[in-house]
Amino acid sequence: MSDNGRRVNNIILPPTITVRDLAQAIQSSPIDIIKSLMANGVMANINQQIDFDTAAIVAAEMGYEAALETPERAEEETGEIPMWRRAIAVEDPKDLVVRSPVVTILGHVDHGKTTLLDAIRHANVAEGEAGGITQHIGAYQVELKGRTITFLDTPGHAAFTAMRARGAQGADIVVLVVAADDGVMPQTREAIAHAKAARVPIIVALNKIDKPNADRDRVKQQLAEVGLVPDDWDGDTIVVPISAKRRIGIEDLLEAILLIADNMDIQANPKGKVIGTVIEAERDRAKGVLATLLIQNGTLKVGDVVVAGMAHGRLRAMFDHRGRKLHKAGPSSPVSVMGLNDVPQAGDIFQVVETEKVAREVIGERQAAKGSKTSVVRSAVTLEQLFDRFQAGEIRELRLIVKADVQGSLEPIVSSLNDFNKGDIKVNILHAETGNIGENDVMLAAASKAIVIGFNVQPDSAARRLAEAEGVSIRIYDIIYRLTEDVEKALKGMLEPEEKVTIIGHADVRAVFHISKVGNIAGCRVIDGEIRRNARMRVLRNGLPVHEGSISSLKHLQEDVREVRAGFECGIGLKGFDNIQVGDRLECYVVEKVSVA
Ligand code: GDP
Repeated sequence: MSDNGRRVNNIILPPTITVRDLAQAIQSSPIDIIKSLMANGVMANINQQIDFDTAAIVAAEMGYEAALETPERAEEETGEIPMWRRAIAVEDPKDLVVRSPVVTILGHVDHGKTTLLDAIRHANVAEGEAGGITQHIGAYQVELKGRTITFLDTPGHAAFTAMRARGAQGADIVVLVVAADDGVMPQTREAIAHAKAARVPIIVALNKIDKPNADRDRVKQQLAEVGLVPDDWDGDTIVVPISAKRRIGIEDLLEAILLIADNMDIQANPKGKVIGTVIEAERDRAKGVLATLLIQNGTLKVGDVVVAGMAHGRLRAMFDHRGRKLHKAGPSSPVSVMGLNDVPQAGDIFQVVETEKVAREVIGERQAAKGSKTSVVRSAVTLEQLFDRFQAGEIRELRLIVKADVQGSLEPIVSSLNDFNKGDIKVNILHAETGNIGENDVMLAAASKAIVIGFNVQPDSAARRLAEAEGVSIRIYDIIYRLTEDVEKALKGMLEPEEKVTIIGHADVRAVFHISKVGNIAGCRVIDGEIRRNARMRVLRNGLPVHEGSISSLKHLQEDVREVRAGFECGIGLKGFDNIQVGDRLECYVVEKVSVA
């Protein structure tokens, strides 16, 4: 790998970045990045998007320590990029075409989700066209000005949570329905938490504006308070006043969706790998298994062999939401298919494979992997394991869902938990509400890698079962200080890990070379142990430390290397330290964090 100058060693990177942009960001050549990716088993071209974790590994190899963009972004980061998004990310960018946006409607109960879905269906200008009667298949498409929008018509919230919990994240845009006479309610907040966790943009449909007691400004104020500052208040959340019942503002809402879609890269390769999400599925006595699939990449055809979760089969027939027979369907189309041997779950990923034999093999592998996967999920969301994952740098905050018996206890709990927020490490209360712990709380916890804390409440049996299946930790308390003490313990571990320093080697500086744009490089001989590129270095002059910091480059015979052992010569660049002198001794050490919790 060539030397490309390594003066800046800390770098902030977004959750995804193209190879080209990464190369630019770390002043390296794209070729070197591609080589490094290949060495790590990732095949990528210059325009391809790679995720932060991958970028960070590559950056580390080039001597950069990467941090995820902003704390806000980190907050929203859930780690899991859905499989279909990954599939699109590896397509050749020149094959990508714009696909229609997939929208899901969320909101508090009775705020008008169902009415809005009906209103949108009727606003569809193509509705009058010849075709069958509208069928309920869990999704439908509408047309506006020659463009199409796909709506997921699932029982809104529950389905979305289920999909989120499985990391499916099928939607591109969330329409959040808020009734103008009722305002922001618990499920509104929950929906916002989901959309944010999935990093899906939100458009607010301010519904029921026809009602005499509608108070738009009050609701806008509430929206601003939960982080959705309306665009007419200089914020960036589009708020469209509508009446779903009287069909007012529906077209404005659809236009707003298209506007948001235009500002996003909603793309797919119709000729690429066929992959998507199961929207719903059931067993029909006459027709066998009927499944609604949302195609997210590629073109699905009758006769294709599909694997969906643990089900598979050759597609015998395919229909759209009007019951019309189709032979093929492209990205963003929802289709109802016949031919699967079993009922897949909503949220399962489906893909086309070459033969039924391959399908059976894939399912065999999935079955084998199922046991181990459950244990991974299980360990991911207990308080203890969250702490470990924090240590490993995987998470930056303790996410909690707090349920309490009465408002009088909820408020002091939330405020004392918020008091823990210091510095980098945070308690993030995703959702706090009175009432027993239900399935939705567990879903939200599973989807956002949070734990559920209950005060004087119990999980209902469905929540308990789900928590077991998803490995979500539920902790119940009846004394407030015990609750805060436990959280504090976990955070203390996060805040004060003990550091153990181990010296791993020494090198003597025998020459200093000045390299333009790079700075001074110490020509060294390793005296004992080894010098490791990713370790830290102390500069000793006359036995006294004059600098401590990280290594920006380590070379042996012009080659970048990870380590150099005793007896060998090497060139060492030190980050932020140019005053290296012949005769200095370099002490290489590693720092391990030791948990005190
Ligand atoms: P969901 O629970 O969010 O699906 O809410 P629904 O769509 O079932 O609506 C709940 C109630 O609000 C129903 O009685 C609807 O008729 C009524 N509703 C929905 N939208 C409007 C609206 O724009 N104006 C008025 N006045 N009532 C509405």
